[in-house]
Amino acid sequence: MGWRPLLDLFFPPQCASCNALGSGLCSSCAPSGETIEVRLPRLKVTALGSYEDGLRAAVLALKDGRRDVAEALGAAVAPLVAPRELLVPIPTTAKRRRVRGMDGVALVARSAAVIAGAVVLPALEQRSGDAQRGRSRSQRLAARGRFACNAANVAGKRVTLFDDVCTTGSTLRDCADALREAGGLVEHAVVIAVAKSRDPWRGPPHD
Ligand SMILES: [Zn+2]
Repeated sequence: MGWRPLLDLFFPPQCASCNALGSGLCSSCAPSGETIEVRLPRLKVTALGSYEDGLRAAVLALKDGRRDVAEALGAAVAPLVAPRELLVPIPTTAKRRRVRGMDGVALVARSAAVIAGAVVLPALEQRSGDAQRGRSRSQRLAARGRFACNAANVAGKRVTLFDDVCTTGSTLRDCADALREAGGLVEHAVVIAVAKSRDPWRGPPHD
């Protein structure tokens, strides 16, 4: 709490879409509450809406490090998260996190979890080439995906994935597989937005 009122005084929250003061996403630009559902193999994906207009502006602002937008998105995501649910954010690449100084996806997950009474578990890490070096052949084969689960405590637990944008769903599927290998029960993912197609000018930053 402490510094927040002071920060708000100098950097008041401002709508990422229309620049109105008061919230990272004002009530006219915030998602309507009607969600979109996408079915992937073994995974139901619930999105706040399509990757366009206000949600697109919000996701891009999140990547620019806008904490006010992360809080506004967290409030919009919270109704989709059950109390005591284990929410596993998809990790931002280490490089992007260094550039932006924050992991926007994790920040939205934390904001949503505080409101919903859920638990954020950063159980996934992205594999780098270095992480593969020095492993035995069988270890490399077991770890063929792009992501690894670094938490032993997902075994036997129902976990929900959380990411910003879902396009093809391949990232969500890889992450679900990594959690399942660790014994997690993964049937549901929540995302901020679903993108219909990959457009070179308006496309999302990753899938
Ligand atoms: Zn607005």
